[in-house]
Amino acid sequence: MRTKAEWQAMAASLVIESRAFIAGEYVTSQNSQTFTDINPATGEVLAQVVACHEADVAHAVQVAKQQFEAGCWSALPARERKRILLAWAALLREHAEELALLETLDTGKPIGHAQAIDINNTVYCVQWFAEAIDKISGDVPDIAANLHAVISREPMGVVAAIVPWNFPLMMASWKFAPALAAGNSVILKPSEKSPLTAIRVAGLAKQAGIPDGVFQVLPGDGSVGAMLAQHMDVDCVTFTGSTAVGRKIAQASASSNLKRIWLELGGKSANIVMADADLQAAAEGVAAGVFFNQGEMCSAGSRVLVQRAVYPQFIDLLEHAAKAWQPADPLEQNTLMGAIIDRSQFDKVMGYIAVGREEAELIFGGEAVSGTAGWFIQPTLFVSSPDTKIAREEIFGPVCTVILFDDEAQALQIANDSIYGLGAGIWTQNIGTAYRMSRKLRAGSVWINCYEESGDQNLPFGGYKQSGNGRDKSLHALDKYMEIKTTLLKI
Ligand code: NAD
Repeated sequence: MRTKAEWQAMAASLVIESRAFIAGEYVTSQNSQTFTDINPATGEVLAQVVACHEADVAHAVQVAKQQFEAGCWSALPARERKRILLAWAALLREHAEELALLETLDTGKPIGHAQAIDINNTVYCVQWFAEAIDKISGDVPDIAANLHAVISREPMGVVAAIVPWNFPLMMASWKFAPALAAGNSVILKPSEKSPLTAIRVAGLAKQAGIPDGVFQVLPGDGSVGAMLAQHMDVDCVTFTGSTAVGRKIAQASASSNLKRIWLELGGKSANIVMADADLQAAAEGVAAGVFFNQGEMCSAGSRVLVQRAVYPQFIDLLEHAAKAWQPADPLEQNTLMGAIIDRSQFDKVMGYIAVGREEAELIFGGEAVSGTAGWFIQPTLFVSSPDTKIAREEIFGPVCTVILFDDEAQALQIANDSIYGLGAGIWTQNIGTAYRMSRKLRAGSVWINCYEESGDQNLPFGGYKQSGNGRDKSLHALDKYMEIKTTLLKI
């Protein structure tokens, strides 16, 4: 555990790399443009980051394709790719403090969480897919005496990974680790709001032995993502971000080369508290489920469905639990909630709070934290009917909407009445209730008596409905980056 003063001293001596990483080198953009990257907890400028341009995208895709076709990575035996990816994971581990600090400075998230969640899980993810890749083999089905068939998996080619700002490196690793393990060339497009860790790990990838042009990083705004999504030589786009941009990526694929697209999108997840739940545990779990990472979480349990019979008791416990999530300096090791990513997201969240004051009942919170140069918002709790704007739309901030229900059927009806289907929680001491309800919830993950994504790489993560398609993590993720080939021989 480091003190705030130690983290500040480390921050003061950090040399921040802010260039793109193309063809194995850190480079400026061919049109020399940059954008300003700000620390949302202080408002201070962190770096002028290279803003990639059409020519940079074209160059990166060309190199990625060349390298794929040359086979310097794609044709390596799986055990070789494993060795190099494990070396990269070791370097990431060695630089874990620096990466966590960069993530905190860039996003405003608490340093303790950046270490324990973001960077730890990134290292684990790279390690997990490295270790998995040489355990996978094809199939030889028994089809007929005079035929011999082999079903094999091959890398797809050039994979563009376009990622958001809420867990910048971890979300990226959920994509680049399986895509690289599978033998693809990867181009990573980090969010313009949090590009620094992606840029930093590219140099470590080279140091670990990943060949030039096999892992490249193109910082820039959405136009860079759009160019990649439209490019005829990009074979797959794997995306995490908003449903609105996911739709644009699907359209770009349709109007270009029908590249494979994998979309991890928004959510408005229901966390259901039944009257027979352990209410203390539920209150703590519900608060963490919506306020962790400042509520900037696709899977945030931001609709809290509470059985009417226990409402007065539960709301007191929830209020108490939520008050522990007060925003504070992200560089304090024990801080639970940090700053909102930037001014525009801050305005968006405060806008929803203003709407909530009109259409629902504010229980507590609802204010920005004054006296700071950063973007901090108090944990905020509303009670609402299920059909308000704050109960239906993704806010992506520390705002929790409590909705009352009378029985199980009504809880399920409200929970499933959403365009999204990412996560859902159930709190009950009756295992029958838990299983019956979990089967009826239209969501990619159902958490029973907990509400957490759980860092374990064995667990697939992704959504139903407009929360996306495909799954990150687990062996299912590898399938997204490999084509299946059938080879048939007549004997
Ligand atoms: P966003 O959709 O605005 O941006 C995501 C990325 O897409 C960024 O890198 C951005 O530059 C890029 N982009 C923007 N316009 C583009 C375009 N036209 N074509 C291609 N790329 C483009 O999302 P955000 O604000 O960065 O992140 C918040 C959203 O991400 C929320 O909706 C959240 O639910 C979602 N999210 C989902 C998951 C999940 O696993 N399902 C995880 C984290 C975040």
